[in-house]
Amino acid sequence: MKIGIIGAGPAGLSLARLLNESGFQVTVYEVQSELAVKPCGWGFPHISGEDSSLLKPFIKDLEDSIVWEYSGYRVYLDGSLLFENKKRKVLGYIIDKKLFLKKLSEGIDLRLRSRARHVSENMIEANGLRTKYDVVVNAGGFYNQKKDLEKIPAIQYHLEGSFEEPEIPELYFDSNLVGYTWFFPENKRRARIGIGGYASVGILEEMLRKLIISKNQFRNSLIIRREGAYVTVNGIDHDLVKDKDPYHIGEALGAVMPATGEGIRPSIYTSIALYKSLKSGTDYLSELKKLDIFNAIDLQKKILDIEIKIDPNLRKQFLMKTPEDLLIKISLGMITKKDLLSLAIRRESLKILLESFADKFTK
Ligand SMILES: Cc1cc2nc3c(=O)[nH]c(=O)nc-3n(C[C@H](O)[C@H](O)[C@H](O)COP(=O)(O)OP(=O)(O)OC[C@H]3O[C@@H](n4cnc5c(N)ncnc54)[C@H](O)[C@@H]3O)c2cc1C
Repeated sequence: MKIGIIGAGPAGLSLARLLNESGFQVTVYEVQSELAVKPCGWGFPHISGEDSSLLKPFIKDLEDSIVWEYSGYRVYLDGSLLFENKKRKVLGYIIDKKLFLKKLSEGIDLRLRSRARHVSENMIEANGLRTKYDVVVNAGGFYNQKKDLEKIPAIQYHLEGSFEEPEIPELYFDSNLVGYTWFFPENKRRARIGIGGYASVGILEEMLRKLIISKNQFRNSLIIRREGAYVTVNGIDHDLVKDKDPYHIGEALGAVMPATGEGIRPSIYTSIALYKSLKSGTDYLSELKKLDIFNAIDLQKKILDIEIKIDPNLRKQFLMKTPEDLLIKISLGMITKKDLLSLAIRRESLKILLESFADKFTK
């Protein structure tokens, strides 16, 4: 079976790897001249639970691509420290995404510098040539969404400086912004700092610059690169899942954690679901629904929708009163229905969240 994939990000290349190993004939088209050009924080959560078994085909490549390990976190709200955790156990990683994608692409027919277009029934046009496939997959990320899925802007700076505790990433919340700032060190001398949220690029950049000026370790660093992109906060689009020509995976489908912007792991999961569907002739949506991450994305979207509606003061209360372990579970997309119930008992405002979601959340 011949499969044509548009886009060589985590979604496209993880699908290509799985299909290639099962004997499918795969071609991947990538508009850029190299891999991992798209701005990204390169953060990846610690692999545990469902991840350990489902991500098995990718674990070695992920492990080989790890450049830094995080063993704690600091969370700030309106400039004050809210939580600090130095657990001394690994909570997440920075992966060299370019290396990871390169490893996934080994043995794959990858066509760089090839802007591809799905033109008609299972047909891709690239570099003036039309090729017919048995299956075409859109893995073009936010750049190539068939529908206008909800997106927010994100800006990221690459810093060079001296970072005192590079094993501790930091998150900064501002009660006036639905969104947050991340500080992801990659070692003692290099880090990424970025902001994403429901505001204009100008406002986000002003907030980021204010934060940089307010802290010595940021202020004394050099900004060596500035970049920006959109993050899809729509959640998985249930209509696009039904499309078969082309199929959609990864961010092109909306598979990003809406409240945190984590997209690498969810993209790989959609590839696993589509791979199973193509291999066994099962329904793609049913395969997606079997994954914990499908519910987690839905839940984060509900939380985000409520965060948008409530006023900054209530948002602040939500962040301050939500127990630390639950906030972290929400961030990592690991929250269960039991966790939600305990949240609702603590906070009247969260009953709204529970009521709007309980009947959909089946775990
Ligand atoms: C600033 C920022 C920071 C982020 N930080 C993190 C993070 O730390 N951790 C995390 O998990 N997620 C993060 N994300 C989200 C994550 O980067 C994406 O969700 C993830 O890369 C999506 O993977 P994908 O394969 O679906 O799409 P993409 O990674 O966007 O890959 C799509 C590929 O398709 C190519 N393409 C598009 N259209 C065409 C076409 N017509 N023809 C050929 N090629 C095409 C693009 O060039 C691209 O290479 C961040 C996002 C942003 C914007």
